[in-house]
Amino acid sequence: MLDKFSRKINYLRISVTDRCNLRCRYCMPEEGVCSIPHKEIIRFEEIVEVVRFTIDKGIDKIRLTGGEPLVRKGIVNLVKELALLKGIKDLAMTTNGILLNEFAEPLAQAGLHRINISMDTIDPEKFRYLTRGGDINKVFEGIKAAQKAGLSPLKINCVVEGNSMTKDAEAVFNYCKSNGLEFRYISQMNLSEGIFQVVHGGTGGDCQHCNRLRLTSNGKFKPCLFSDLEYDIRELGIENAFEKALNGKPEKGTKNHNNCFNNIGG
Ligand code: SF4
Repeated sequence: MLDKFSRKINYLRISVTDRCNLRCRYCMPEEGVCSIPHKEIIRFEEIVEVVRFTIDKGIDKIRLTGGEPLVRKGIVNLVKELALLKGIKDLAMTTNGILLNEFAEPLAQAGLHRINISMDTIDPEKFRYLTRGGDINKVFEGIKAAQKAGLSPLKINCVVEGNSMTKDAEAVFNYCKSNGLEFRYISQMNLSEGIFQVVHGGTGGDCQHCNRLRLTSNGKFKPCLFSDLEYDIRELGIENAFEKALNGKPEKGTKNHNNCFNNIGG
């Protein structure tokens, strides 16, 4: 399907939780952010119903995000149900990799195709500082487990300050080269100030060719990451909320004062 700017929209990014097991400095404050009450978090059966509906509308690429999707209980079962739906050509996930060693094989068995892993440095001390306590060795183990499970391609999302390669990003790039991983770097974004760039090595931030919609962890379709517009599937119904989101897609992103990265999944 096309939006009103004749862009082909075939990609749905779904935030399955706003919870996370890290506290990355550019994503959330130390004390965390006020979590969405459990009863408002989107249920698996709602996600499956949304995906089934959107497949008929032309969505064939699904990415599960968070917060951290692997902290959501039953995530493997959700992947299993989505993988059974006919019409999904690309079923992917973005994770911080901390729990990946445990989940890689079950996710691959459940039908997940591929994974992006967030890693902004390979320096253990810097990683612990940036994530407020994360252990980089768990991420390395997770990457190995994902490679062993056959999840491919494996892409590394490296967030950099500004728009140029930093020493850390170069180290991550070299790590990717020597481990058969794909490297992408993402300039730090700021939702409320409307600061974003095109993802290097990806398609995010390229408004002219935007192909995506989002579903937040509390069940709202978002036409654009950098927009305040959102449409509640529970209030409006899936079809109505979807149509409004598709027709509400802006020509390009501006600012988003409503969301935090942890409930919209970047
Ligand atoms: S800012 Fe909005 S329009 Fe631009 S690429 Fe992102 S989601 Fe698409």
